[in-house]
Amino acid sequence: MSDTTRRTGSCLCGGVHFVVTGQPIRIGLCHCKDCRKASGSAYSAFAIWPRDAFETSGEVASYGTRSFCPTCGSRVAWVGDDEVEVMLGSLDVAPTDLEPQYELWISRRETWLHALPGTEQFEHDRPLSGQCRKTPLRRRRDLCRTPSCTIEN
Ligand SMILES: [Zn+2]
Ligand SMILES: [Zn+2]
Repeated sequence: MSDTTRRTGSCLCGGVHFVVTGQPIRIGLCHCKDCRKASGSAYSAFAIWPRDAFETSGEVASYGTRSFCPTCGSRVAWVGDDEVEVMLGSLDVAPTDLEPQYELWISRRETWLHALPGTEQFEHDRPLSGQCRKTPLRRRRDLCRTPSCTIEN
């Protein structure tokens, strides 16, 4: 890996810290129900890195594919088998230099929000073979419980 950019992140109370190295694989926004409920906000902004680009310290708890600090409740990185999902807001430096490439579940986007210029727009999940946004770290259909899942392998 030639890009050795290091970005640090943490939860609100500082109990959980992490570092991601290099550029993310993809960056997105999601307006789905799960992202709204889990964040308590109108949408989530996240970036995905390869699993081996990620290091963490501190105790985390999880619910489904969402991880959080058990002390302060902040969302923190979800670690999957080969990818890690990081909420942009958990990174320490703001603003980041990371710009979303796509938006998911725009049918649930607040009416006062508009399509982010230059990004791919999806009504629901991203129809990418071998990948599912609902369970982004699952690559097999039998591991995904989303009825609309488009995983093909
Ligand atoms: Zn915390
Ligand atoms: Zn979502």
